This record gives sequence, C-alpha cells and structure tokens, in this order.
Amino acid sequence: MYIDSHCHLSFPELASDIGGVLARMRAQHVRTAVNVCTTLEEFPRVLALAEREADIYASAGVHPDSRDGQEPDVATLVTLAAHPRVVAIGETGLDYFRLQEPLEWQRERFRVHIRAARASGLPLIIHTRAAAADTLRIMREEHATEAGGVMHCFTESLDVARAALDLGFYISISGIVTFKNAQEVQEVARFIPRERLLIETDAPYLAPVPMRGRTNEPAFVPYVAGRIAELTSRSQDEVGDACLANTVKLFNKIHREVNVN
Ligand SMILES: [Zn+2]
Ligand SMILES: [Zn+2]
Repeated sequence: MYIDSHCHLSFPELASDIGGVLARMRAQHVRTAVNVCTTLEEFPRVLALAEREADIYASAGVHPDSRDGQEPDVATLVTLAAHPRVVAIGETGLDYFRLQEPLEWQRERFRVHIRAARASGLPLIIHTRAAAADTLRIMREEHATEAGGVMHCFTESLDVARAALDLGFYISISGIVTFKNAQEVQEVARFIPRERLLIETDAPYLAPVPMRGRTNEPAFVPYVAGRIAELTSRSQDEVGDACLANTVKLFNKIHREVNVN
C-alpha cells in the first residue's frame, strides 16, 4: 500500500479529471493522498475535495513562488489549520530559483508559516530550491523543530539532508529519483533512514519514469517506491508500507481514519 504525501489535485490538469484521477489512484493501492495548498485563494477548493473524499487530506499555506495572492498571517493559517481535514501547514519555504532578490517578503512569509505550525501543532511541508542555507537558518531561528515536518521533493545535497534530519525533519523523495541523471537524489534516497523517508508525486509535475512527459498523478507514486526499492535493496511493498506508516505518523491527524499496522 502507498500514500502520496504531496500532490496538487486542485490544479486544473488534475481537477478537470478528478474522478478518473481518484479511481486510478485507488486501483493502484494508493490509500491516501495529501492535497497541498499553494494559495489562500485555492484553499476552499483544496478543502472541499478533502471534505468530500475520505482518502484525501488537505494542507493550508502559500507557496514561496506565489506573489500575487492574499498574504497569509499567523492567525489566518491557525484558523484554517483547525479544520479536522487539514493535516499540515504549507507548502512553504524558499525558492531562489524561480524569483530574484529582493526576496525578504519570501523569508518573512516562511517565518509566518513556521510560527503558525508551532501555534497549531501541525507539521510543516517545506519547499526549498536554490536556497538551502537560508532555509535551514530560518528553520533554526524559528525553532521549526518544535513543529516538525517534511522537506518535500528533495533535490539538495547529502549535507543538507543530514542537516534536515538533525532538525528532526522527514525527507520526501519525488519521481525525480527515477530520472537517469539524478544521481544526487538517488544518493540521498539511499542515505535517508527508513523511518524518516516519505514519497510523493508532486503531481501534476515531475511524472516518474516510465510515465515521463505525461501529466503526473497519485497513481504513479508506486514507481517512486519501486526505484527506491532498487536503490536500497528492499522490496517495493516494504518501501510503500514504510512510507505510508511514516506519513501517517508525521501528519498524525490522518491517523483517526487510516489503519496502519
Ligand atoms: Zn514544492
Ligand atoms: Zn508542491
């Protein structure tokens, strides 16, 4: 069994065929998916799906690449996080790849999310790209360890992985691990302790081999587990089951409804 710890089911590529997406996900034994919020404007749609579908959960947050929408404050995020179907704060973090300095607003927004996570008792979903040093620095300054969480779609070095693990965070590996030229991600996937590993699709992006070039969807998360199984000499079922258990432990509001042995 599998869980997709990070996907965007409310993006038009997936929302336009949500019935098919959910049917294919269930057919592939993907028990649960976390539908990750990227703007406050999107949040009502993210939540509505989680309220309607027993196996879909929601997060609340504003992506670091989102510039034009409503700016979140701690009180707003804490209020949204109180809903029983909201299991995490994010995705948040820093992205110096897509946008250029001055990005003080991005760092401030990241701090707001960490404060909201600590206040609400929910874990963080952290996105970091070309900004690892600042991401780790702000996590330390804001005591992100108190909230805990996951570094999602991890593409950083082994040293950054080690630092995130030291802060008590989980690391989530996406379909990038199946790409031929992704040696660094493969090395990280081998290194992460089994009890700290999560897997995700980040759908609709980054479809894994052999689906590369197609719209990604939660039904493809078993390919991520399969590649990690090869890299770590474990069975695909073992990787899937361990990641499912880890995700439910991290996003512990899921626990009420999913039985994991
Ligand atoms: Zn992301
Ligand atoms: Zn994402």
